[in-house]
Amino acid sequence: MLKSANLRFWLAGLLLITLTACGPENEAGPGATAGSGKTYNWKMVTTWPPGFPVLQEGAERFAENVRAMSNGRIDIKVYAGGELIPALQTFDAVSQGTVEMGHGSAYYWAGKVPEAQFFSTVPFGMTPRGMNAWLYHGGGLELWREVYEPFHVVPFPLGNTGVQMGGWFNKEINSVEDLDGLKMRIPGLGGKVFAKAGGTPVLLAGSEVYTSLDRNNIDATEWIGPFHDQRLGLYRAAKHYYYPGWHEPGTVLELTVNKRAWDSLPADLQAIITHAAESENMLMLSEMEQKNLMALKDLQARDDIEIQRFPDDVLARLQAMTEETLDEEAAADPEFKRIYEAYQAFRAKDDEWTAVSERSYLSIERD
Ligand code: CA
Repeated sequence: MLKSANLRFWLAGLLLITLTACGPENEAGPGATAGSGKTYNWKMVTTWPPGFPVLQEGAERFAENVRAMSNGRIDIKVYAGGELIPALQTFDAVSQGTVEMGHGSAYYWAGKVPEAQFFSTVPFGMTPRGMNAWLYHGGGLELWREVYEPFHVVPFPLGNTGVQMGGWFNKEINSVEDLDGLKMRIPGLGGKVFAKAGGTPVLLAGSEVYTSLDRNNIDATEWIGPFHDQRLGLYRAAKHYYYPGWHEPGTVLELTVNKRAWDSLPADLQAIITHAAESENMLMLSEMEQKNLMALKDLQARDDIEIQRFPDDVLARLQAMTEETLDEEAAADPEFKRIYEAYQAFRAKDDEWTAVSERSYLSIERD
């Protein structure tokens, strides 16, 4: 009895020494169990304001789910934009390893990585259904990982805004000529297309959007969808609310993980993060849809605003200008061209399938 108790004591001591001796680099890889008791205290920074509904909340829900599934082995503390670092430095902070994780959207880094825009949204591009098909099963995510590799960043889709609204205008838009001379808050490629139509795109942070429109410093603004637009009070600042959001037909949100931090995780924790991201990707989109359909009803009940569809002719002209814009960008940048071609090849097939599935089904007249 005494002998076996001593042996157990000795074995426990040996196990402790083994665990202590194992650095993080020994814990990576399939089947690694030695580090299963180690706790990873990570930081995530986001591009969203503190408490921002659905987006910041979704990033926090993801962190909670990872903590629950890993039994506390990964503890991710989530910081909103500006709490730890400025919102738009999220990508750099993850790239440099200042923090382990980020949440935002790939088009924010267009100045550094123009082709990243194909992994968020492009004007007249694919909706969330097509984007998820491309990213998860059509080679899109592999391309995205390739594009971020030089920056030591591993991306995952984590959330989607759904098809956005076209925006709030202080006058009616009956032809593309009505856009001429307008100042509009509209970022990214959508802004470049708007400039081609004779407008002036303006970059404004979310916090400045309402005041600028209300004081007529801008003539129009896009934001997100009915839920977030209503919350910002935009219906008090402009009368004409247009759809659809041709410039953002479903913006993919991203989780970014520092490559070295990712490689330091054992395989089971990598699997937990991967699946928690997939789960939150769906939860955030479905929450956006639910909140938007409720808010649209509220906005439709107001008699001081007009909710209108852009005329077909306006959409057709903007679509032609989008093709010109994308071709110009591709001609100037071989990497942009390579990702654009891959995106377009998938999208062409998705269009054909959509024509006989969703587009066809949804065109059935309802009673
Ligand atoms: Ca938007």
